[in-house]
Formats: sequence, structure tokens, C-alpha cells
Amino acid sequence: MYCLRMMKKGITVMIRLQRTIKNIVSCEGIGLHTGKPVHIVLKSAPVDTGVVFVRTDLDGAEIAASTANTAETSYATTLSQNGAFVKTVEHLLAAFAGLNIDNVIIEIDSEEVPIMDGSARPFIRLITDACIENQGKLQPVLKVIKPIFVREGNKQIAIWPADSPSISYFIDFNHPMLKEQSLQYHPSEEAFLSEVVDARTFGFLRDVQTLQANGLAKGGSMNNAVVLGENTVLNKEGLRYKDEFVRHKILDLIGDFSLVGMPIIGHIVAHKSGHALNAQMVSKLMNSPQHWFLVGSLKEAPVKQQEMQYQHAAL
Ligand SMILES: [Zn+2]
Repeated sequence: MYCLRMMKKGITVMIRLQRTIKNIVSCEGIGLHTGKPVHIVLKSAPVDTGVVFVRTDLDGAEIAASTANTAETSYATTLSQNGAFVKTVEHLLAAFAGLNIDNVIIEIDSEEVPIMDGSARPFIRLITDACIENQGKLQPVLKVIKPIFVREGNKQIAIWPADSPSISYFIDFNHPMLKEQSLQYHPSEEAFLSEVVDARTFGFLRDVQTLQANGLAKGGSMNNAVVLGENTVLNKEGLRYKDEFVRHKILDLIGDFSLVGMPIIGHIVAHKSGHALNAQMVSKLMNSPQHWFLVGSLKEAPVKQQEMQYQHAAL
């Protein structure tokens, strides 16, 4: 880890080298909403590539995982670039963000990322099999310096200036098992692997017919989602965490906010948010440069692996 000291502002921010994966790995499954079979292949990518989807079924059409390409946010996050789409990207993006993978190519032969077991765990296994590799350039971070808010009805997100990243999430659904769950999360690889990685997507049995009538959740089942009946969880195996729901919302937020393209240093406070409001906040943040500055966007960067003090005199 590098320590980049910003002399003008007197602020110290921890930054690290960019990372990618070393080996080619793949998996297959079905799309949660389309129900279609899909195969993905993860490959390493050079510095400053970011996360890029490549639709192999559409002559290699590329879709960069960036805020500018957010196209649809009801029930999942869909990206689009030059007319090509990729749906339900959030859990795979969260896995990359959770393990600090900045540059990767995802070849995909259909329109929706496989839902796997509804959590990020299968993607973490894949990335771990691929081995993570440091690259020769610093990964910039976005340091929030002025509070920023979005609100829609009783849903809201704020990002407050803070010395380190954290997420506080509050949910309050109209269901006996989802009343007033909250959790504070301090991002690190260890925290990701122990606190959110296994949290599965969830849905209500009462909504299934409506969703499927609208062309959604066609691949949904108790193999890839927690399904809630009137008062209880219907999955025989029960929950993986007693507050699995708020943990999954944090996982979704990590994936959605990774579309910024770099870690955010600030305290994100989300109240009853979802993909749509997450996307609104990310868009507002990117369009409000007076609320943040970048640290680490240097042309040249040292490649030494050990911890060092790096003095940067100018912003
Ligand atoms: Zn999700």
C-alpha cells in the first residue's frame, strides 16, 4: 500500500497499485431475469483499461463498466454502449471491487451475467483461481470533500467526507423479516469476504407472477435467490447471515458504485436505496467535481511492492 500525502490540503490518502487477474478463467450459468444460459470468460487487462464486457455473440461489441453506460436500473443494473447491452452486472462488479481488481475483460456470450447462487461467492472463487496480479501504476481514488445527497421519496443516499471509506445501509421493507435492518461496513478484502460475499439476492413470492409477466426473474429460483413468503424465508437452508438482506443491499451498492471506476473515500449512507437511486448518486457525483478531488492520477508511478511514503506536492 502506498501512502500519498497531499501537501496542499494536508490530507493523507492511502492508495495502491492497479490490479488485474493473471490467468484466464470461466464459468457458466443462467441469467436471473432472462433465464438464458450464459458463459463468461475473465481475462487480464492492461493498466487503465477498467472493467470491460465483450459480447462475443455480437462480434465482440465492447461495453465498458462506467457510469456513462448505465442504461437501466429496475431490479438490476444494465449497461449499454453503442447499442449492445449487458444485464445484471452488479454482483460480478462487486466481486471485482471487493477484491480490488481494477482492470479485467469479461467475454460474455449472451445478454445477462449468470446469477450463479445469487451472491458474489462463485465469482470470488473464479477470481481467486485466476490469481490476482499487481500492475505498474497507481490506482487513483476519489476523495469526497463536500457532502452530496440524492433523494427520491423516502429513499436517500448521502456521501459525507471521511478519512476512510465506509458504507452505512438501512433497509425497512414492508415484510416482518425485513423491518429496520442496518449495518455499517468498512471496506477491505477481509471484510468483503467475511461480511457480504455470501449474501444472496432476494425477492418476495407475492411479486413473482408480476415480475415474470413483465419478462423479469425468468431464471429465478430458490437455487439463486432468497424467496420470502408471507412471514418467513421459504428456502429450506434458511439464511446465510441473520441480516442477509441488508448485506446483499451493500453488495449491490458496492457493485453499482464501482461504475465510478475508482474507490471512493467517503462515508456513504444509504437509506432504502436500490439500483436506480445508486445510479442517480453515482451520476450526480461524477457531475459534481466541486465535491471531490482525485488522488493518485500520476503519469508515472513506482512499481515497488513494499509500503512507502510518496510525496505529491500538487493536486
Ligand atoms: Zn443484487
